[in-house]
Amino acid sequence: MHISKQPIKISLSVVLSAMVSFSILITMSIMTYIQYNNEKQSLFQNTMSHNLSSAQKMAVTTEALFSSMRKTLHAVANISQLRTMDINNKEELQHIFDLVLQSSPYFNSVFWTDETGQIRTVSPYGSNMNNTRVTTKWALEALNGRKSYISDPYVSPTGRLIVFVSEPVFDELGGYRGMIGGTIYLEKDNILHSIFGSNAGNETESYSYIVDSAGKLLYHPDKNRLRETVPEEIVRQFRAGNSGELHLKNMQGDDYLAGYARVATNGWVIVMQTSKPSIMADVNDNLLHLIRGMLVPIAVMLLIAGFIAARIAAPFARLYKITKVFAAGQNVSLQEFKPHWNREADQLNRMMKAAAETQAKQTSFLQQEAITDPLTGLFNRREMERCLDLWDKRGDRYAVLLLDIDHFKTVNDTYGHQTGDEVLKTVASVITESSPAEAVCSRYGGEEFVILLREHNMDQVYVIAEQIRQTISAAPTPFAGKITVSIGISLSPEHGVSRAEVLQAADMALYRAKREGRNRTITAG
Ligand code: GH3
Ligand code: MG
Ligand code: MG
Repeated sequence: MHISKQPIKISLSVVLSAMVSFSILITMSIMTYIQYNNEKQSLFQNTMSHNLSSAQKMAVTTEALFSSMRKTLHAVANISQLRTMDINNKEELQHIFDLVLQSSPYFNSVFWTDETGQIRTVSPYGSNMNNTRVTTKWALEALNGRKSYISDPYVSPTGRLIVFVSEPVFDELGGYRGMIGGTIYLEKDNILHSIFGSNAGNETESYSYIVDSAGKLLYHPDKNRLRETVPEEIVRQFRAGNSGELHLKNMQGDDYLAGYARVATNGWVIVMQTSKPSIMADVNDNLLHLIRGMLVPIAVMLLIAGFIAARIAAPFARLYKITKVFAAGQNVSLQEFKPHWNREADQLNRMMKAAAETQAKQTSFLQQEAITDPLTGLFNRREMERCLDLWDKRGDRYAVLLLDIDHFKTVNDTYGHQTGDEVLKTVASVITESSPAEAVCSRYGGEEFVILLREHNMDQVYVIAEQIRQTISAAPTPFAGKITVSIGISLSPEHGVSRAEVLQAADMALYRAKREGRNRTITAG
């Protein structure tokens, strides 16, 4: 059979496997994505609230720190030498200041400025400020304000980035005698570093810093950044509340999750922040872990899916093979159609089986019809000739009995064609009954019949022919009279080596039988 070129078709098992694989992968991806997002959100949330609470705690600490600083400066302002203005012994005063500086951890330097702004005592001693006059805006503000003061961070005349805290000094009589100041050198090791430096912890991605209300950095783990100012936009966000959570971009453009809290007494803002990429790195690590964990189960599921898909597709592939045989016109054994657990496959199987059965029946009916004479039910001439051709080819020995009804035309003419047909049927049935079982009985044409026999000698064939002839002449007929037949016999290879020759010989014998008076059997030769 010619099969025209087909476009590429996809096998059922591939479609099923692909579908299942696709759903598994999509489901897993969605689940992973949700998991990933949840984890990201919760990590962000946790980090922010952790940073917020850290910042709040640090603000409380700073508050306490400032209160302690003030107390210390206040205590210095109240030492008797200053209150009584008994300051002739400058060395003793220096000693007291040195002691304060060494015994309290708060300041990098401590100084006393009289009401004119002249620096009278400073510790550590030898700092070139001694006996100079304060000039900076903040020092003058503190001096003239005559009350507790905290400066902005600024660069002092000595070139240091500092912030200072001061308390006014009053003598016994209540006269203003200047101020006691404590300085923090922001770029040197200082109290802020010792307190907040530890907050950076071992996670370098999380750190805290302090800005004043204007956004100037007071403390930062990276001292190089101290002279920078936090952008106004961020400062504005800090001003929104006393504390809160923020998404920040630092000056390098990195994303941070921050918590901030304001120190009530000085307006400083303490920020604790964690780099977003570092959190994302954790989340991504976990994601990788999750995906790695899913690989084996997914592979197993895909294998199972592939196996099931192959099992579902198998009966269709099988049916294809069977029907291919079927389509090629060959016979298919009905046992090939096996029941299947899959309903569609089973239905298809049953229907194909039914179709095969029907076709087999039709084929055998048509085959039967093709070799049968419809009126008498004997083999037709074609089948008889096929039989002879086969025997000729094999070189079989056989006998041909050619039988012709005598004066059949008269029967037809006298009793009608239908009666003639009845006679033909009667003759056919006598031929069948009187011939040996293995004889091939056929209607040669009109009212002529051929009986083929193998492995019989002339005597045996003659007996059979006579038996047929006599039975016909004795058989009852559809009309009053009787029927007789003439028979010519020939043998292969005695009277011919081909079908045509042997039939010709039988025909000549039959011709002689007719000429010699009919109702007789004549052998060839
Ligand atoms: P003979 O004894 O010489 O054989 O004479 P006959 O009349 O039998 O021979 P003939 O060949 O002249 O006539 C044969 C007749 O058989 C002619 C035809 O009408 C008739 N015949 C052929 N086939 C059929 C058939 O199928 N049915 C019927 N009813 N008649 C048929
Ligand atoms: Mg005839
Ligand atoms: Mg005849």
